[in-house]
Parts: sequence; C-alpha cells; structure tokens
Amino acid sequence: MSAIYNFCAGPAMLPQAVMQKAQQELIDWNGLGVSVMEISHRSKEFIALTEQAEATLRQLMHIPTNYHVLFMHGGGRAQFSNVVNNFLGDNGRALYLVSGQWSSAAVTEAHKLVGESQIDSLNIVENVDGLNQVNLPDLNAIDKDYRYVHYCSNETVDGIEIFEELDSPWPVVADLSSTIMSHDIDVSKYGLIYAGAQKNIGPSGLSIVIVRDDMLKLPSLPQSSIMDYRIAVEHGSMFNTPPTFAWYLASEVFAWLAANGGVSAMAEVNQQKAALLYDCIDSNPFYKNGVAPHNRSRMNVTFQLVNDALDGEFLKQAEQAGLVALKGHRIVGGMRASIYNAMPLAGVQKLVNFMNQFATQHA
Ligand SMILES: *Cc1c(COP(=O)(O)O)cnc(C)c1O
Repeated sequence: MSAIYNFCAGPAMLPQAVMQKAQQELIDWNGLGVSVMEISHRSKEFIALTEQAEATLRQLMHIPTNYHVLFMHGGGRAQFSNVVNNFLGDNGRALYLVSGQWSSAAVTEAHKLVGESQIDSLNIVENVDGLNQVNLPDLNAIDKDYRYVHYCSNETVDGIEIFEELDSPWPVVADLSSTIMSHDIDVSKYGLIYAGAQKNIGPSGLSIVIVRDDMLKLPSLPQSSIMDYRIAVEHGSMFNTPPTFAWYLASEVFAWLAANGGVSAMAEVNQQKAALLYDCIDSNPFYKNGVAPHNRSRMNVTFQLVNDALDGEFLKQAEQAGLVALKGHRIVGGMRASIYNAMPLAGVQKLVNFMNQFATQHA
C-alpha cells in the first residue's frame, strides 16, 4: 500500500517517527517492562519525562522564565471557560476579537459564565470584494479597562490566520490551538497562550497553557480545582491524575521538533507547503479560495470547487489516491487541507498533482 496522507483538521496526523517510537515503547517504556500508561504519574521516571517535556517546549518556543507551562485536561475549549473563571472575578471585563468560528465560540462560552456587561466582543473580519480579510482595530485607541483581550490567531474552520502580533494595552490571551509552533512567536507579548494538543502537539484531551506569573494575581471566580491555574502551578499540573499518555506523546513530538531544526525550520517548510497549495488554487480556474492573501492560513487551507456538484467525486477520487480527510467543516462546506507540522512536503505535492489532474479530467 502506498503512503496515506491525512489532511484531518484534528485530531490530526502525528509525525510518523513519533508514532513508530511509541509503538515500540507501548508495552515496555524506559526499560520498565510496562507502558508509560501503567505507571504512577508521581514515579521518578514520569516526573523526569514531564521535566524534559517542559524544558524542550521552553527551548522550542523561547519561553521566558516568568511564564509557567501547564499541561491541563479538557482540550482547547476547556480554556474558553478557564480564562474567564481565572481572570475575571465578579466585575472584571474582557474584550474578545472575533475572526471566525472558534473565537466566536469562546465568546459564547464566556457569556455563559459572567454577566453580559463583562464581555465585549468586536468582529474583526470584513468581506472586501468577495474576500474575507482581518482588520485589526487600534486597541490603544479604546478607552476602556479590560483584564485581557482574547483572540484566536488561526481560525481552523474558516482558514483565516492573523500573522501580526497584537499591540495591546491589556494582557493578550491567545488561542493558538491550530498554529502553536508552526512559526516563531514572541511569547513575552502574551499574558496567556493556550492550545488544544490534537493539531500540532499530540493526542486530543490535553491542553497546553503558557501563562505569565503576574496574571495569576488577578481575582478569580470559584471553580473546579482541576481547572484553576494557580492550583495547577502549585502542583506541577498534577493536582489530580493528568492524561499521562497524551503528555508522553507530546514530549515525543517536542523532541522530534527539536531534532528536526525546531520551530523556525518547521516555519520554512510550512510556508513552502502553503504557497504550493495556494498557487495551485489561484492558478487553476477550477478552484477558488475566499480569504484575502495576507490572511490565508498556513495550517488550514480551505478551498472550493467552482462547480460544487463535483465535490463528492473529488473526495472519492482523492481518497482512492491516498489523500484523506479533505472534506471542509460542515459549517463552511467545500474542502479543507490541514497541513500542520507533521504533514511532509511530499503530501502537499501529491495533493497538488491530484488537484491539477482532477481539474484537467473534468474541464
Ligand atoms: C480545535 C480547536 C479548538 C477546540 O479544541 P478542543 O480540544 O476540541 O476543545 C479551539 N480553538 C481552536 C482554534 C481550535 O482549532
């Protein structure tokens, strides 16, 4: 069987080398004769794993020492409520920038937890001549006192990415679920960064939180202990039993990234992959994409067949060619190729060849 390239948006493909190592270690990890899933999270071997994972992540992302790194339960969405519960208290206010499905879902969750007056939201996407583009507001011109401003730098469903870092008078809380470690960022510009693991890090269920220590002084609301950032810091993310296998796989993905040139090397290939795919879409009148070029996601490339009656045939033939999970999100339709760090350039080349061939056949 020839290689399968999996373009799923999440849970997404993981590096093959990591999966092969995990397979080998599944029943005997670290010479212990048992798997990493079957040992105490407080054993010295597991603690060593967590220390290594954090050290490698700190090195990959250049995380300053005044930031804590947490490995938490609940994926990306758990942080939608955690940031509200941890930072807003009874009367704090926050500003939410809305650029698509995920940032909008974060607003909906925030509204469930605190009063209407505590959450302001601002739509930052505009359709200009049929293309969606992000217009970042001048935050310094807004005369309000917010505890934080929340945004999502890559809208996984809509295929919209914001490459500029926000210039904000308030701490920036960022959902980087689908873009973390795909290119370098300056962590010191953020109050808190979070990411569900299943796009660029590891298996679902785990979320990574990177939080500046002064943020933990903000008044919080009564909440579940396992979702309290202060308690997580105090207990090294082990107030209760953490998702140990997910943590192990994440540590292996970090090691793989470090061994392959780190984030800047990934960014270079990610840029090439995205350019190849968007060039194919733009140069072939058979396909289209509705996002302005400077906001096109490098991780989730959305595109449509101009003749959408051929969608089913496209997906069927793609699958036969070993190119799987290209169906777009049900809300937006069309196609979506998610090309996170683990997707090799060869996978995108194969997709582009297929797309050109399909277009010729059906012209
Ligand atoms: C996938 C995703 C989420 C949700 O993650 P879950 O782990 O399913 O809760 C949130 N934000 C973004 C940007 C995502 O891509």
